[in-house]
Amino acid sequence: SGNTPANDLKAQNASERDNEPDVADPAETSLLIKILGKGLVNTKLALDIQQKNPSSPLHSVKTFEALHLKPELLKGIYAMGFNTPSKIQETALPTLLADPPQNMIAQSQSGTGKTAAFVLAMLSRVNVNLNYPQVLCLSPTYELAIQTGEVAARMGQFCPDIKLRFAVRGEEVDRNSQIPDHILIGTPGKMLDWGLKFRLFDMKKITVFVLDEADVMIATQGHHDQCIRIHKMLNQQCQMLFFSATYDKEVMDFARLIVSEPTIIRLMREEESLDNIKQYYVKCKNEDGKYTAIQNIYGCISIGQAIIFCHTRKTAAWLAAKMASDGHSVAVLSGDLTVEQRLAVLDRFRSGLQKVLITTNVLSRGIDIEQVTIVVNFDLPVDVRGNADCETYLHRIGRTGRFGKSGIAINLIDSERSMAVCRTVEKHFKKEIQYLNTDNADDIE
Ligand code: ADP
Repeated sequence: SGNTPANDLKAQNASERDNEPDVADPAETSLLIKILGKGLVNTKLALDIQQKNPSSPLHSVKTFEALHLKPELLKGIYAMGFNTPSKIQETALPTLLADPPQNMIAQSQSGTGKTAAFVLAMLSRVNVNLNYPQVLCLSPTYELAIQTGEVAARMGQFCPDIKLRFAVRGEEVDRNSQIPDHILIGTPGKMLDWGLKFRLFDMKKITVFVLDEADVMIATQGHHDQCIRIHKMLNQQCQMLFFSATYDKEVMDFARLIVSEPTIIRLMREEESLDNIKQYYVKCKNEDGKYTAIQNIYGCISIGQAIIFCHTRKTAAWLAAKMASDGHSVAVLSGDLTVEQRLAVLDRFRSGLQKVLITTNVLSRGIDIEQVTIVVNFDLPVDVRGNADCETYLHRIGRTGRFGKSGIAINLIDSERSMAVCRTVEKHFKKEIQYLNTDNADDIE
């Protein structure tokens, strides 16, 4: 430390960020969801399947045995505790393992079994008699690549002949010899270095190309173009596999560049709804008034578990400090924490050690905390122009069928502007937001 210009600049940037809306980084969010790993997301929603090549019959399997895998691989699957294929795996696996190979685009929310599916495909396609890379898997970040590699190592634990190597920062290879490993999992930059710059393996010999977390990939500067460059060097016969949690136009345009004649498998996301949520608003004079409102409802909100959303890190930190000084044990989750710190905070909160979690939009969709019954919008969600962000409101407050329990949402209003945002939200969802007088907290049902 010390007062160097660089440190001054760092401090200045940090404090600027504290005042800005705190947002989630897609790669970090995805990693968090993976590590939190609550197991398979069960969904009753239907699959949507589109085939570009109708001559290849599409079938689905109800068991892993029906896939006729190598016994060692089947053993690996069972050792991981998998009994039956997940919804998306039922249909994706036969396509992934088909001969001749078929290209695939698969989209479903995190936790539905995509990674397990393509890792199985990667492992089953390896010819261990050939000592060169045959499978490439691209991930958006170092950490996500490691996660995927760990799944591959576990699933392949009874296949000691299959060799896997990470192509990520910090990994070095002998520049004078060719890479002998069968599977490379890594980030686009390192993969380009090894494959194109140093020619440590032959891109033309790759038979399976996996693009994981494609939506996160295009959200990362430079990755889109690097993926395309890698793709261009591959053989036309290479099996192209494309996975994403979301499915907007940008992702699909990217998919079309990478995958020709794909089978497209989509698993709809469970809709969030406000149906069983009682929504209130509280009128406050200013930020201190909001704090008074929180104090008034604290007894109520800490019966179960509550999440309080703030717009900026600064507000979150201020609120947390104030509540702590009033003797309340609160957890804080904001964008200045590392992924490890966030995990620790979420673990403590989920285990019930703390009743109240103060956070920002860094706690985004996909990180469900089931036991939360009360959500407080200390600040209502707004976009960059200050207009109501109804989508974020729904992610914060709404519940999916899975956790279709009832809940309470309380919006703190301290200006005409925030009242207008509240009204917009009310109109948008056509669900009443009732006035709540917190001087008389018995009003909360
Ligand atoms: P995604 O890639 O869609 O996020 P994953 O493949 O990581 O999903 O799977 C989510 C979680 O479910 C992981 O913990 C994984 O081990 C587990 N899982 C995947 N497939 C199955 C299965 N068929 N049976 C049981 N658990 C599974």
